[in-house]
Amino acid sequence: MGTILIKNGSLVRDGVRVADILIKDDYISRIGRIDRGADETVDAEGKYVFYGFCDMHTHLREPGFTHKETVKTGAAAAAKGGFTDIFCMPNTNPVCDSEVVAEFINRRAEQAGYVRVHPVGAITKGLKGAELSAMAGLKTAGVLAVSDDGCPVSDGAVMRRGMEYADGLGLLVLSHSEDKSLSAGGVVNEGANSVAAGLPGISRAAEEAGIARDLILAETLGIRIHICHVSTRGGVELVRYFKRKGVAVTAETCPHYFALNDACILDYNTAAKVNPPIRTEDDRKAVIEGIADGAIDVIATDHAPHSAGEKAADFVGAPFGISGLETAFSLSYTILVQSGIIDIVKLGDLLSAAPRRITGLGGRLREGERADITVIDPDLSWRIDAQRLVSMGKNTPFDGVKAHGMVTETIVSGRRLVREGRLVRPC
Ligand SMILES: [Zn+2]
Repeated sequence: MGTILIKNGSLVRDGVRVADILIKDDYISRIGRIDRGADETVDAEGKYVFYGFCDMHTHLREPGFTHKETVKTGAAAAAKGGFTDIFCMPNTNPVCDSEVVAEFINRRAEQAGYVRVHPVGAITKGLKGAELSAMAGLKTAGVLAVSDDGCPVSDGAVMRRGMEYADGLGLLVLSHSEDKSLSAGGVVNEGANSVAAGLPGISRAAEEAGIARDLILAETLGIRIHICHVSTRGGVELVRYFKRKGVAVTAETCPHYFALNDACILDYNTAAKVNPPIRTEDDRKAVIEGIADGAIDVIATDHAPHSAGEKAADFVGAPFGISGLETAFSLSYTILVQSGIIDIVKLGDLLSAAPRRITGLGGRLREGERADITVIDPDLSWRIDAQRLVSMGKNTPFDGVKAHGMVTETIVSGRRLVREGRLVRPC
């Protein structure tokens, strides 16, 4: 594969320092001042160099829903967004509740040749919330985490058994926390704007009751848990409170929860229909506070592509979900870093170090590590254009929004998948 020299980049690790990186084949061979030549040189002057971003929460839709996205198109979109590793949720058809399905996804990802894809296994068979999935087989297929994302386990006793079983196998549980009996029928956040729009609401209580149950289970059992897509002030406060108590909890949020408030649904744009729903301005601020003070550990995308036809339905009929892989970095950089809420090192933690630590993937910018690298030009601005997304899902509420900071290189195992901002076909 040869050598790649990344010259004069601002390496983001514990701090920021200017150095060169020499990649040899698929690993980082040297970091420092490097004067020798290489087969390829990346000019990273004025650019930030991160260890590869890792998305703990995507939906790739294959098998079963390949009119929305495939493993290949999703993995390509991930590369475009600067991610070298993504975790894909099991709500496919068939559900990823066995070794066979996980291996199918592994094979598809390998054939695609883009980023590394880590299938998340289901907690229960068919996401039905009754019988536990074949977790030992999932583990054999290399699965690192389990979740019933989208169809949360409503029976507390089943969730408890699932958590115990997963923990026994060393699998991380990703909790889509939602009490479905409280959210049923709702399509947007319940509040003044749902009333104004005449749309059925989803109360914060649905999410917070779900989070509370799973945090209490984690505390009772002494088992770690990761809370997905936290969107409310109460959710952030619950996570913060249980962290202070010493419970092994981590949590993620997504860019749409700190970029938007629920006034965005007043024009009935179904691209903003997502679950949990976009909340109020107070919730948005609380999510940002949680990111700043460490209650929230991770920024994940919850990339949820849908076809244009499906999203063209009326607001009540359209499916939930936002296509997020290609906008996550720039939205986070624009909203959190440029405004001075967090620094670039913290952003590296949220997008790379923390998800790698929590999932057990590991990896950081140092010699001997696998060459998974994301390079960002902070001086480039771009206008998000839904139709130009690599993902088959063009469903973004950020269409037309100007964002700052752009992914210029995504290197996976020493292969340059994004070169100078352009996605290239993997060889
Ligand atoms: Zn979810």
